[in-house]
Amino acid sequence: MLLWDGQSRREVLRWMAAGAGAAMLPGVGRALGAAPAGSSVGTNWAGNVTFSAKEIRRPETVEELQELVRKSGAVRAVGSRHSFSPIADTPGTLVSLEHFKQISVSGDKATVDVGTGVKYSELCPELQRQGLAVENLASLPHVTVVGAISTATHGSGTRNLAGPVTAIEIINGRGERVELTERDEDFNGAVVGLGAVGLATRATLRVLPSFEVRQWVWENMPLAEYAEHFDEIVKAGYSVSGFTTWRDDRVSEIWVKRLASDGDWNPGARWFGATPAPRDRHPIVAMDASACTAQMGVPGPAWERLPHFRPDHPPSSKGKERHSEYLIDRRHAVEAIRALYGVGDQIAKALQISEIRTVRADERWMSTAYQRECACMHFTWTDNDADVVAAIPIVEAALDRFAPRPHWGKMFVRSREKVVGQYPRIRDFRELCTRHDPEGKFRNAFLDRYVFG
Ligand SMILES: Cc1cc2nc3c(=O)[nH]c(=O)nc-3n(C[C@H](O)[C@H](O)[C@H](O)COP(=O)(O)OP(=O)(O)OC[C@H]3O[C@@H](n4cnc5c(N)ncnc54)[C@H](O)[C@@H]3O)c2cc1C
Repeated sequence: MLLWDGQSRREVLRWMAAGAGAAMLPGVGRALGAAPAGSSVGTNWAGNVTFSAKEIRRPETVEELQELVRKSGAVRAVGSRHSFSPIADTPGTLVSLEHFKQISVSGDKATVDVGTGVKYSELCPELQRQGLAVENLASLPHVTVVGAISTATHGSGTRNLAGPVTAIEIINGRGERVELTERDEDFNGAVVGLGAVGLATRATLRVLPSFEVRQWVWENMPLAEYAEHFDEIVKAGYSVSGFTTWRDDRVSEIWVKRLASDGDWNPGARWFGATPAPRDRHPIVAMDASACTAQMGVPGPAWERLPHFRPDHPPSSKGKERHSEYLIDRRHAVEAIRALYGVGDQIAKALQISEIRTVRADERWMSTAYQRECACMHFTWTDNDADVVAAIPIVEAALDRFAPRPHWGKMFVRSREKVVGQYPRIRDFRELCTRHDPEGKFRNAFLDRYVFG
């Protein structure tokens, strides 16, 4: 039986067994020996990737890290383990840089140096204390800054999280300390580096004066209104997300995050047919909203409104989930949304909720938003892998004609050709990796398939 992109189920399983999809679909991957039972390195946050690394090391200084890289055969860094793909894995040594906790604001308050152990939930309160803020955040602040940058993690309405990076320091495959800044030709290749250019020790981000945001949720917008007024709706705030199950011809929730400085927002009792939520909501309407950031127009620091989830609660479905996401050219957003409503019933069993966002174009070579204004189609699946495996190819087939770029940190089954074909600078990226990592220490099966293959 052909499952996806001409690959038979057998081929897909063989690929996973080879480690490229190592335990992305855990029952299957483990059965085929991709993930060693009882590995001390453990799993990713959601538990669908069991790391095949032999050991985990936690260096405390840059010198220790350099020594470790020099002595290692295969080595990769891991952040807070929130990726759903096996992108962080390595057959050798996994390195956690959790001790690299530097947060240092420049004298002119224009930038901040961030150690690679720092999470947004640690960075943002410190910036706030100093009257500063980051420009953009993902749905959760629980992730590390460098882990998020490395996979082009994004929120909605702005550039992705790699956008504000002005410099990055890496330890390359020879153990050398290298700083790349905006002035370097390779910089745009190194920032969304997929962990393949080097092990980053710190990143420098451009910061903004702190600002406040107010968040409103609207419910049950008819699909016809959403589709007809898509551009106006996504421009209604600094950051706007639509949540849907692709069924019943309606968008269940629209989250609108507006700058508090823009003042009150009273579009009336109905906004494109949607009604205001009577209280705070979770993106999955049946779930308790206590894990979510404050809504109902209550102003608060941007970092406590731009993510959907609060740092002191487990985000989303608390790990009982898998994620996929595809970024397409924003000009095709409405057509793609209609295509997904066309398959809504077929994926219903696997789907908890989907989110539709927009991301600004950028110049980072391996960014999912490289030179493309994007609409992002995200899927929070259940943790039933059999259902998820059945649903992903349906979504990919529906989106195929829109040349989607899958999120590097989420699950997908696109063919290598289709992934590679979406990155015009991929040869330059490979060359950059080879220059910094001639022995291929930072490569893994996932990257061998989708980047180096
Ligand atoms: C509940 C939930 C919600 C999410 N919401 C969003 C969202 O809103 N938007 C979005 O785009 N994504 C989202 N994601 C995906 C997630 O943000 C990304 O996968 C992100 O990369 C995870 O960061 P991390 O710190 O966990 O990194 P990891 O998953 O641990 O690693 C990611 C990559 O970064 C590399 N890396 C980490 N540290 C270093 C380092 N020091 N040097 C070099 N490379 C390094 C790793 O090798 C790996 O390749 C979500 C995930 C979850 C679980």
